Amino acid sequence: MKIICIGRNYADHARELNNPLPEKPIFFLKPDSAILIHNKPFYLSGFMGSIHFEAELVVRVNRLGKNIAPKFAPRYYDAVTLGIDFTARDLQNECRKKGLPWEIAKAFDGSAAIGPFRNIPSRGLQNLLFRLDINGSTVQEGNTAHMIFPVDELIAYVSKFMTLRTGDLLFTGTPAGVGPVKKNDRLEAYLEGEKLLDFFVR
Ligand code: MG
Repeated sequence: MKIICIGRNYADHARELNNPLPEKPIFFLKPDSAILIHNKPFYLSGFMGSIHFEAELVVRVNRLGKNIAPKFAPRYYDAVTLGIDFTARDLQNECRKKGLPWEIAKAFDGSAAIGPFRNIPSRGLQNLLFRLDINGSTVQEGNTAHMIFPVDELIAYVSKFMTLRTGDLLFTGTPAGVGPVKKNDRLEAYLEGEKLLDFFVR
């Protein structure tokens, strides 16, 4: 399986990192070795500089698809959760400056924390509230209504370039409020009030 991650999908987050708003979705991949599940701790490596949290809605693909039209996209996912797209921000900034790929900043072990999956709400995905608390204080609050590109357009766009397969995951971008994690931080993420992530940084 593969993990597809969307960048700059919330205007307030693009602005906080001084990025222009994208005209098309921006995406990159993480390998399956990046997955962190069951609220296991996220281990800081020590040599990678600042590691930022990015709380995101994550959608799970449930069938094979290529060149999917947006109106048919809901047939291609069956579950949703929250995830943290951990990002080595210093390394990413270096890569961006030099025009290099982002893998060392985005695809490292543990960089794709995900919670347990839930069914897709009957009203769909585009008006869901989520938030991330660190050590009991809310640091990110998102409403999926504010995505620049809604999930169905993301599915359509990505599937023009690569076949989607059962089990693939789509991280849909993060709202404003990203920042560094430090040792012993406790991360708790809520989707529509339900806690889906609760783990520590070690
Ligand atoms: Mg992200």
